[in-house]
Amino acid sequence: MKRLLIIAMLLLPSGLFAQSAAVKEIMRISKEDNRVMQHLDILCNRFGGRMVGSDAYDNAAEWAAHTFKQWGLEVELEKAGEMCVGFNRGGWWGRMTGEQTMPLYFTTPSYTSGTKGPQKGHVVIEPRTEAEFNRLKHKLNGAWVLVNGTNTGWALEHDAKAAEKRKAIIEANAEATRHNREVAGKEGAELKEIDTTTPALFYDQMVEAGVLGFIQASKVPIRTLYDRAIVRDGGYTFETLPTVPDIRLDEAQYSTIRKMVEERRDVVLEFDIRNYFKMGPVPYHSVVATIKGSKYPDEYVIVGGHLDAYDVATGGVDCGSGCSAVMEAARMIATSGAKPERTMKFILFAAEEIGLVGATAWTKQHPDLLPKISNMFNRDGGPLAYISFSVPASLKKEYDKIAEPIKELYPDYNFQINTINPSPKPTSAGGTDATVFQVAGVPAVQMRESDVKGYDFNYMEIWHTERDTYRKSIPEYQKQAATVLAIMTLGTANLSKQWPREEVYKAPEAK
Ligand SMILES: [Zn+2]
Repeated sequence: MKRLLIIAMLLLPSGLFAQSAAVKEIMRISKEDNRVMQHLDILCNRFGGRMVGSDAYDNAAEWAAHTFKQWGLEVELEKAGEMCVGFNRGGWWGRMTGEQTMPLYFTTPSYTSGTKGPQKGHVVIEPRTEAEFNRLKHKLNGAWVLVNGTNTGWALEHDAKAAEKRKAIIEANAEATRHNREVAGKEGAELKEIDTTTPALFYDQMVEAGVLGFIQASKVPIRTLYDRAIVRDGGYTFETLPTVPDIRLDEAQYSTIRKMVEERRDVVLEFDIRNYFKMGPVPYHSVVATIKGSKYPDEYVIVGGHLDAYDVATGGVDCGSGCSAVMEAARMIATSGAKPERTMKFILFAAEEIGLVGATAWTKQHPDLLPKISNMFNRDGGPLAYISFSVPASLKKEYDKIAEPIKELYPDYNFQINTINPSPKPTSAGGTDATVFQVAGVPAVQMRESDVKGYDFNYMEIWHTERDTYRKSIPEYQKQAATVLAIMTLGTANLSKQWPREEVYKAPEAK
């Protein structure tokens, strides 16, 4: 009886009427003035691809900070790390000329070199043995080189460790060639295999011989990442940067060209690639926008996405679809008259794509806040609609109430509240920023997303490829997601209690 009374009192806080007026206003904004696609348009099409260390990233962070401030939030640019050098991407084009002409479909990994303006050259297939290299030596000058292997996204390796590895393969290839020649024609002889998959075996020697650049085959869409030695290991300066373009070409075009070269036909390729570097170190920052809690300022709800995005496209989905919805949810709450009882932090994390660096830095810089976070909401799973949310069992009734306006606004999405089945706390991060919070013991339960209405969205098509543009986001879902995010996160900030962690994470089993 006493417990019932307490629950009844908790469900009727003094600010209840003000809060429900705010939610009504959020519903009105959602219907009449939903700006989620405007934010996405600016992120993608005014700033472009947002690699950390680029001007586009810094410009986007500056704009997001300014915009949050205009809506009345407190904003901090929190340093997450720095790049040893910076990188800015311009446009690129290429074509085949000679006997046949065709436009070329390709990209280059971030933090790799561009051309010296449009550069034309003949084509050579990479040598695999010392003898082949010597035979081609003079032909390499001014040539585009077709290298072996298929695109993994990473730039060709060029550091001392890679040179060691290549040297060993070259020696093994020479030994295999010698052996195969010796045993040729002999009965029962076993042939040794020659490595034909490691790309650019004579990398340093070919650069020295004056090649124009390297070309590797890739599946389409083309997934290109970055030069790991520069971005992750650091320690590069202007003086030590690689200087030769690293091209990933549509595999169908690659094999056409390779066959023509094998037939000794007249093939000329021309590329113009505008990849530029800037002096480092280049610091990068997460954008942290705060609405202070009116009742429990030292308890928190985190709403995040990552601001950085691959620059072969413009991050229209990964993670523009997250950042734009997080920003619009913040705007809806901030301009609705809501007075969240707990502090709400809207964070656009830096450097997710290079190893969850921004989220990791934030959790390290704010250890005192971590025990006080109810849930970390993270939108990084595509431009989809929200269809359900699993919550601690003891809060299910409150969330059913919070979700009512969502059902009213979007009856055809059938938004559901379910309860969490507690599971062990993850021990390693991966995939997305939310996992960093999970490893730190913070609940980071995500709403389930779905392509409910059948827009044929395919995450693998856009995932770190040249297709990840503004047009791949789905306005109908984005608008729904921003609204659901606003209502659910505000509701979480106004709960009768902080999320009980034992209802999220199971205690580790005794050994
Ligand atoms: Zn992402």
